[in-house]
Amino acid sequence: MKLAERVSQVSPSLTLAITAKANAMKAEGIDVCSFSAGEPDFETPAHVRAAAEKALEEGKTRYGPEAGEPKLREAIARKLKTDNDLDYKAENVIVTNGGKHSLFNLMLALIEPGDEVIIPAPFWVSYPEMVTIAGGKSVIVNTDASTGYKITPEQLRKSITPQTKLFVLNSPSNPTGMVYTPDEIKALAEVVVDTDILVVSDEIYEKILYDGVQHLSIGSLGKEIFARTIISNGFAKGYSMTGWRIGYLAGSTEIIKAASKIQGHSTSNVCTFAQYGAIAALEGSQDCVEEMRQAFAKRRQVMLERINAIPGLSCPKPNGAFYLFPDISKMKVKSLEFCNALLEKEQVAVIPGIAFGADENIRLSYATDMATIEKGMDRLEKFVRSC
Ligand code: GLU
Repeated sequence: MKLAERVSQVSPSLTLAITAKANAMKAEGIDVCSFSAGEPDFETPAHVRAAAEKALEEGKTRYGPEAGEPKLREAIARKLKTDNDLDYKAENVIVTNGGKHSLFNLMLALIEPGDEVIIPAPFWVSYPEMVTIAGGKSVIVNTDASTGYKITPEQLRKSITPQTKLFVLNSPSNPTGMVYTPDEIKALAEVVVDTDILVVSDEIYEKILYDGVQHLSIGSLGKEIFARTIISNGFAKGYSMTGWRIGYLAGSTEIIKAASKIQGHSTSNVCTFAQYGAIAALEGSQDCVEEMRQAFAKRRQVMLERINAIPGLSCPKPNGAFYLFPDISKMKVKSLEFCNALLEKEQVAVIPGIAFGADENIRLSYATDMATIEKGMDRLEKFVRSC
């Protein structure tokens, strides 16, 4: 049997693989401190769970429209106006099986052989793989700590060719936690409009911000950039709904219709009763989001101080998401080797930077409890000092 060529062109998701390994070790009774997956440790808020339970009891258990429950699409369109100043109607929104799936749908709807997609590195592990599966070519643009791991407008302009179709913007960023300032977003928008490419703005971490920084949605900057923007977002991170698998894509009706056609032949609709939980998440009190954000802020502070106190590691202070991305270049070891040894010797699970196109870094998620953070940092310090 010969598998399809596309299988050998992509690698397994390291974020998922390492998380699964850490969980398997825990199941064996090993005391693992896991900072692997970006998965909030909180329960999904009670009113969200109650809404899904009610929908289940009411028999909302049937197939639904492929692009999502009309009420949820409307609620998302309202949210995009209120929170992000984006003028979308329900027909501009498709509900997908998580944020990852919204991006996957987009790549399949938009990208074909010969198309180039600009992805700033460090990047979230799945972006280039999705481009590959769609048959396109990722153009990776390296950034470093000197620009806060952010692509500059000059870098973006330089990497655009006649084949460029899409630019992937992710702020707050996974894996660095960095947030583009409004001026930086404006400068990137000018390049996108000027060169007439499309931008997908992955805003999954938009609610998880610190130190008073603001999230600016690139599409809100005017008609011309709005017409070239696609928004990807979801409920997993902000509402602690990772396992629910509910995300969405918003864009022109043409793109949303195309994504719906593809979704209609792959997953059909997202779990019907789960969508009612998502409606409650958007329409209910947002206090839960703020409570979780405040907990993340405390954890960020503790983890950052502990890491920067370890000789050989250095980490800039991120303003968003729930990741730290320390530089391990002084350790003179590849990131995968570092992470494997750390897991083996000290039972601490972190993700090697190579997964995100940055081999001199590691990623730690602090979406976990403070006791695990303290214990894990003790172990990390011991490990680094022994290297
Ligand atoms: N997005 C999360 C992460 O980066 C979950 C795992 C995944 O989908 O990659 O850890």
